[in-house]
Amino acid sequence: MNREELKIKFEDIPPEGLSLAFEDQKGELIRDCYPVSKPIKAKVHLMRWGIDVKVTGEVKTELVLSCDRCLKEFPFPVEANINVLLEPVATLSRMKEEVRLKKDELDVIFFDGITVEVDEVVREEILLAVPMRKLCNEACKGLCPLCGQDLNEKTCGCKPAVKDSPFAILKKLVVSSR
Ligand SMILES: [Zn+2]
Ligand SMILES: [Zn+2]
Repeated sequence: MNREELKIKFEDIPPEGLSLAFEDQKGELIRDCYPVSKPIKAKVHLMRWGIDVKVTGEVKTELVLSCDRCLKEFPFPVEANINVLLEPVATLSRMKEEVRLKKDELDVIFFDGITVEVDEVVREEILLAVPMRKLCNEACKGLCPLCGQDLNEKTCGCKPAVKDSPFAILKKLVVSSR
């Protein structure tokens, strides 16, 4: 994959728009964030909208994430639609609230008004698809905080420190009311 070919000059986008498809075998686009277990495949269509560029399309890949609870790696398929409006950064200061509202259904990314970095747009969309809480499984039991045993595999003999339960207070109240 040649990232330079994904930097498209605004003036080179024809009136009918420009379609691009590319494959990133090794996941170079997001190498600094996550490894991939399947190539990144993307199809995008660029359309000039006045001084803006509308980017639509789709991206597919499979990331390798590590579970927040048990720390094990697990495959995470990504299949995202791209629906982004690129606005020249120069319009930022004079953008009015009403304009913002109209564009609310689109993700807005700023660009220099000259070069559309399709690789960056696709990268952004993949990263947006990663959830805040990364779990190998919703029911993952995680690691024992005392011995580090993976509780999905077996239970350990550790007794978690007993905290004052709300019932302890309740008991006291019941006793004292007699
Ligand atoms: Zn897990
Ligand atoms: Zn334990």
